[in-house]
Amino acid sequence: MLNKTIAYTGERKVFIMFGAGNCGKGTQAEELVKLYDIPQLSTGDMLRKAVKDGSDLGKIAGPIMQSGGLVPDDLMIDIVKARIAQNDCAKGFILDGFPRTLNQAEKLKTLLNEQKITPTLIYLDISEELAINRGVGRYYCKVCGSNMNTFYNANFKKAVEEATQKGVKVLHNQKGCTGEMFQRDDDKIDTIKKRYKSFKETSYPGFEALAQESNYIKLVIDGDQPKEKITSIIKDFLQTA
Ligand code: AMP
Repeated sequence: MLNKTIAYTGERKVFIMFGAGNCGKGTQAEELVKLYDIPQLSTGDMLRKAVKDGSDLGKIAGPIMQSGGLVPDDLMIDIVKARIAQNDCAKGFILDGFPRTLNQAEKLKTLLNEQKITPTLIYLDISEELAINRGVGRYYCKVCGSNMNTFYNANFKKAVEEATQKGVKVLHNQKGCTGEMFQRDDDKIDTIKKRYKSFKETSYPGFEALAQESNYIKLVIDGDQPKEKITSIIKDFLQTA
């Protein structure tokens, strides 16, 4: 089932991933990248890179992101417009983290209509409790970038507890990588709660606005399931959509 590939029909394939932070939309977007050979456009990743590079955008976005707020719409719309005009998006693209407001959704709708694109909306629904558990348990490796989660991995949880007790760094120690593990600044419980509230109040109306378009393809999934199961639900749906 998981190895099924889906034929490319010639039209521009556009997916819009929705869901509160930690719902797993980034992970599922990666599966769509493999399936359709189109890029995943994570606005969060673009902004994190801008912060790391110390660009003008990064200087504006950094403090907003750290507090769990939203970067202004006009900036985000310009970033996305410019990105989807690049060559690698000619066959299609996956939006991961955009739109996040009703205004962004309306602007995106206009853009898609102008380009005669019929997108597929995928919404992964999770509870606030799950968003918190996933967020506070997640660590990224400074060397290889992969992540591990104390919520799902008892051995890793023990390793984190031991390292914290001893006051030493948490190390990756997987597949020959011994990089230092770190937590994202916005994976703090208060920030996660703020982001969850912001998703429900500010971002969800954007999903509703797009979902009202009768020709758009829509899929809503319970995000509290193993990632392989969700991938399989999405693939099966796309076979028939
Ligand atoms: P993410 O990695 O998608 O959770 O995004 C991390 C942070 O980047 C968010 O909490 C926002 O501060 C910012 N961000 C990402 N995408 C957007 C967007 N479309 N509009 C406004 N802010 C965004």
